[in-house]
Amino acid sequence: MIQPLLTIDLGAVAANWRALDALSGSAETAVAVKANGYGCGAFEVASALAGAGCRSFFVATVEEGAALRGAFNGHDHRSSMEERAASSIYILNGVADRGESAVAIALDLRPCLNHLGQIEAWRLSEGGACALQLDSGMSRLGLPPAEVARVPDGLDVRLIMSHLSCADEPDHHSNETQRSRFIENADALRDRAPDAQLSLAATGGTLLGGAYHFDLVRCGVGIYGGHPFAAAQPVVTLETPILQIRDIPEGQSVGYGWSWTADRPVRIGTLPLGYADGMHRALSNGATLYNRGKPVHLVGRVSMDLITLDLTGHEDLQVGDMLEVLGPHQTVDALAEAAGTIGYEILTSLGHRYARRYTDITV
Ligand SMILES: *Cc1c(COP(=O)(O)O)cnc(C)c1O
Repeated sequence: MIQPLLTIDLGAVAANWRALDALSGSAETAVAVKANGYGCGAFEVASALAGAGCRSFFVATVEEGAALRGAFNGHDHRSSMEERAASSIYILNGVADRGESAVAIALDLRPCLNHLGQIEAWRLSEGGACALQLDSGMSRLGLPPAEVARVPDGLDVRLIMSHLSCADEPDHHSNETQRSRFIENADALRDRAPDAQLSLAATGGTLLGGAYHFDLVRCGVGIYGGHPFAAAQPVVTLETPILQIRDIPEGQSVGYGWSWTADRPVRIGTLPLGYADGMHRALSNGATLYNRGKPVHLVGRVSMDLITLDLTGHEDLQVGDMLEVLGPHQTVDALAEAAGTIGYEILTSLGHRYARRYTDITV
């Protein structure tokens, strides 16, 4: 079968975790594996990291948590059953109703309770270990400061957390504002949550330094090799074969909308990935792939399942040869910039039709 190949280096994932764990000092280094591990495979990533020593994982939804717990209970050779069973799984979006609470309780998932109604429902359903999320200034999820005083007694709170809006801008004044608001509100909860760890930082906050680490950091994008963790090892390689090659004369156009027209005789290659596979349509007439390090330019529009490249000057290329989309010559962040987006979005839209290979599997 002729299809793109996505390679995910779990050795690099583990190395990035160790590097962030060293940076976070005595704080625990937890990992966000929401959105299927940023497109890299939640179970594969979490299992490799459990083997490396990571003990806490964050997903967005109860459904994601249930899938991860289920996979953790199965067979795997990248970590031991004990390592995986000891893992805490936090649900960032909390539990929306009684059905979700029941699943969370049965599977030992810890919801990040985000508002008073959710807290009350969790208490009434006799839920166990949980987290409280505070809104320290992002105005997205979590208890606003005015509601902190109304949190009831009797919850088994293991984590008090909040999230920074501008951690990738180290000089932004919001970082210090959110940090002091977080400390103030977490202190006010101390008597009702004596055993809770405190957590404010994601990858960006971890890089801000010790004042932001508290007891636990929640790293996501840096684990997967993305900005703002500049020292990260790249995790993802994406290569695609050439499906068809044709020569077109000067004046002939390429693709939907005839948005590109040859100003000379041109050799066009067609490759089997498109916007349905995470090659954002904004890359039309604007992306570069690499032929053993030499740039090859995308011409015409990105369609659902195909892209077209100008192969002129690459006479060595034949049908079936592989070109690099992501890898040593193009990082996730570089492709994101060409598409007018961020590395997170490139990662989480990695296609489901790619052949996937995991490397550096410790047997
Ligand atoms: C996604 C997320 C993280 C991880 O963020 P990164 O920037 O990818 O490190 C941490 N905490 C919360 C609340 C999140 O939503």
